[in-house]
Amino acid sequence: MIVDVHQHFGLTPVVSGAGISGLDDDRRQRLEFMDKWGIDQAFLLPSNASPSPDGLADRRESNSVIAKYVALQPDRFPAGMGTVHPADGQRGIDEISRCVETLGLRGIVWHHHFLGTPIDHPGMHAMLDRVEELNALAFIHIVAESALEAPWRLEILAEAHPQVTFVALDGFSSFSHATWITQIAKRQSNILFDTGMLASVAHQIRDFLEIIGPDRLLLGTDFHCPPQLFGSPFPLTEIRDNLDLSTAVSARVLGENALTLLDSSSRHSKNG
Ligand SMILES: [Zn+2]
Repeated sequence: MIVDVHQHFGLTPVVSGAGISGLDDDRRQRLEFMDKWGIDQAFLLPSNASPSPDGLADRRESNSVIAKYVALQPDRFPAGMGTVHPADGQRGIDEISRCVETLGLRGIVWHHHFLGTPIDHPGMHAMLDRVEELNALAFIHIVAESALEAPWRLEILAEAHPQVTFVALDGFSSFSHATWITQIAKRQSNILFDTGMLASVAHQIRDFLEIIGPDRLLLGTDFHCPPQLFGSPFPLTEIRDNLDLSTAVSARVLGENALTLLDSSSRHSKNG
């Protein structure tokens, strides 16, 4: 079972005029990609780069569309995430509740680089308190070269919210980052890491597995369409075919850890 925990939907203006009419085309292209590369399931994450002229109202609609998308084919899309802006305040916290309790989404994702705030924005703490109460997941991007998404900022949140399970996205996006997150992983046991934007040279997957073990690494491709940003899912082929990992370790990283993650969080709605 191969599970990709990091696929995005919604860069195109699904929330500002097109409704969900583009959803079928997206799903066709996405499933073609997944079938071609043997990806059985994917978690769907909204894009924080989507047009949002009306702020929280747009984010609410985007979250509803993600819920509709995963409900269409839960055997291929077992989990969707919602999103809010760290400065959405109490209304954002209420939206987190709606995402999880009403829409059946399994957590909240933030890409602070696109939201224009640092990961450790003061508004994040009350939001993570709500995520913890709901036993939902917190997906946070830490892409290389974004000062707003510097991994130390995530460590501040992880330390302040030890009961929240964080999934750090794009941590292997540079040599420096890969070294950094391996050190952070040793200190913060409540962070798992995906392979999105895996740098193709000296990416240190083997070092991470040797030091941290096989339970905290998740396959993530960062697939997105349209436009489709790449043709082949490099992290999948690297881990499955080229790193000479044991079958057991490979199975953990490529799917079992993702399913364990879902089991550990609460499912609040049968739609999820
Ligand atoms: Zn992403």
